Amino acid sequence: MNVSLAQQRVVVLGTGGTIAGRASSAADGVGYTAAQVTVQDLLASIPAYEGLALDVEQVAQVDSKDMTLGVWQTLARRLAFHLARPDVGAVVVTHGTDTLEETAFFLQCVLDAQKPVVLTCAMRPATALVPDGPQNLVDAMVLARHPGTCGVLIVCAGRVHGAGEVAKAHTYRLDAFDSGDAGPLATVGEGLVRQFRAWPEPSGLLKPGAPAWDRVMNAHELPGVVVLTSHADADATQVNALLDHSASHPASAVRGMVVAGTGNGTVHARLEEALSRAQEQGVRVVRTTRCAAGPVIPHAGQVLTDVRQLSPVKARIALALELLGE
Ligand code: ASP
Repeated sequence: MNVSLAQQRVVVLGTGGTIAGRASSAADGVGYTAAQVTVQDLLASIPAYEGLALDVEQVAQVDSKDMTLGVWQTLARRLAFHLARPDVGAVVVTHGTDTLEETAFFLQCVLDAQKPVVLTCAMRPATALVPDGPQNLVDAMVLARHPGTCGVLIVCAGRVHGAGEVAKAHTYRLDAFDSGDAGPLATVGEGLVRQFRAWPEPSGLLKPGAPAWDRVMNAHELPGVVVLTSHADADATQVNALLDHSASHPASAVRGMVVAGTGNGTVHARLEEALSRAQEQGVRVVRTTRCAAGPVIPHAGQVLTDVRQLSPVKARIALALELLGE
């Protein structure tokens, strides 16, 4: 069946977050409860969508600070289902901002997103005097219907980010997301998309039904990977405690450690010694940086492998998925 872009349906999946949040006062921008308003009600508040071919589904209703593997699996399954439909041109996902970059990265790792998967959010609850969610949703819809768009994308405050680079960079500003040195992929506003860089290559290697997909979708939990930070006066306490835990609780053993190093991925000598010991005991250790921007540039003599561009939280997901595949 050949369906023209104009006829293609957009699927909107709701997962909760501040975009669906409610406060007792319109002036309260922080003391609200996330994940209260249904995605159907969010869309109903935007008259522009009347008559548009939309399918709307509430996949979850969570504050994204409490994101779980279970929600990711449900979301990935629903996305895979809808993306495979010939009559669907794109999927928009409403999500909380706190772990948005992690969900986007997970989806980019697992989905073959040849069509756009546009995640959007809000920094103010739906009950705010001037909520930002409706505009972000409008912009997400514009991007979803823009010809040629593909991959897992994030839309917030008129900027379009790629799942690989994006990170939440501010605690309350409406324009809370940043893509570091790479910058946004595009802007979206007034119904117009202005693209600066190529859309991300759909990099997800997993196809529904393939063994790797089944392994990720059927896992009860991801392999235990922890994130540690190097800092002044760091020592071996946490690594030792984790190794002790693994020795006494093999079922929940820590199989990987990500260290968010200082600067160019440098690690305090005491922590590095402990991490090397963990590595010798079979724990997979990778090194990234706690700097908000810039990759770790490799050089000779490093005892711990670096993961270049990935932020600590994304490196955790990448390593956990890698361990799951072994
Ligand atoms: N805690 C909220 C969430 O991530 C924050 C937000 O959406 O802005 O769901």
